[in-house]
Amino acid sequence: MRKIIQLLFLVALLNLHLLNAQSKLDEIVPVRGIAIASPGSDNLDRFIKFINEVAIPNNINTLILRVDYKYEYKTHPELRGNNVLKEKDVKKLVQVCKKNHIEIIPQINLLGHQSWQSKVSKLLEVYPQFDETPHVKLPEKYEWPNDDGLYCKSYCPLHPDVHGVVFDLMDEICDVFEAKAFHAGMDEVFYIADDNCPRCSGRDKAELFAAELTKIKNQLELKGRKLWIWGDRLIDGKTTGLGMWEASMNNTHRAIDMIPKDIVICDWHYERADQTAVYFAMKGFNVVTCPWRTPTIAKTQLSDVLKFRENSTPIMKNRFQGMILTIWSGVDSFLDEYYGVQKTEDINKSPAECFRVLFKEINNLSVVIE
Ligand SMILES: [Zn+2]
Repeated sequence: MRKIIQLLFLVALLNLHLLNAQSKLDEIVPVRGIAIASPGSDNLDRFIKFINEVAIPNNINTLILRVDYKYEYKTHPELRGNNVLKEKDVKKLVQVCKKNHIEIIPQINLLGHQSWQSKVSKLLEVYPQFDETPHVKLPEKYEWPNDDGLYCKSYCPLHPDVHGVVFDLMDEICDVFEAKAFHAGMDEVFYIADDNCPRCSGRDKAELFAAELTKIKNQLELKGRKLWIWGDRLIDGKTTGLGMWEASMNNTHRAIDMIPKDIVICDWHYERADQTAVYFAMKGFNVVTCPWRTPTIAKTQLSDVLKFRENSTPIMKNRFQGMILTIWSGVDSFLDEYYGVQKTEDINKSPAECFRVLFKEINNLSVVIE
């Protein structure tokens, strides 16, 4: 009996210690998360195992899930993709995350990323009339660069029917995930206000981009939800030298002064620890810094976040919200590498290694200040 009491006491102490570490971390790096493709029905259990075994002990509190069309939508069954999550699958995931204080932020790419290489997204497949550039045909064999400047297709933000459809999906996915925030993607939008679009041609690209963001944000606000986006379209690619991928070369960057300030910016940089989080914070936005697969860069980005928080006014400090590691491979290939099923070829190009290094570093912070 005495042994059992001792054991219970130890477990309680351990829990207290974990909670203590977590609340300390909440003060130092409030957002600690990953952004990853949503699992499908077939690998859901493996993903939940990873959450239990790895994410929770690492004090992860935010999970951005790229769901897109991988859900059994009831509002638009015609837009269901392959290997979709069913409602009961989602609830399983929600339950684990809720119990462990992990906020799930579901993502559907809005505006841009409506095709990938030679394949259109489900939205444009079913509703080709929403295509901003119907004259651009997807090639059989995709290559970059190409004469059409085709990276991904966009939907036309001025098509009168497009929001009726995408907002149904957005609201449904937020409802089923019981989400307080939604990630709309909005990165790498190259096709916007195309000269051939009867509705958008000649319009100001920044104004169009800002109007689309504001519309999405207002829709989410009806149910008290926040909007998160990638930040690249709001940075001037020419002046900064950041170029067309991690910043904008088609003048959408001026939208930064036209959008509501309570949109959360995911500021991604994978080649260097660029200091653009300061720019977003000074413009009044909450910002999270996003590495990908290079551990040394991720470590520098983390120390920058800490430095920015330390050397800012109380008003600015909390706008530097923390870190989200972005994982662009599928769930299975990430987990294969993480669990050693697949060998890591290069540790400087490894999201799994970056995960280990970054979260070890973050969790050490709670020990250091004890
Ligand atoms: Zn258009």
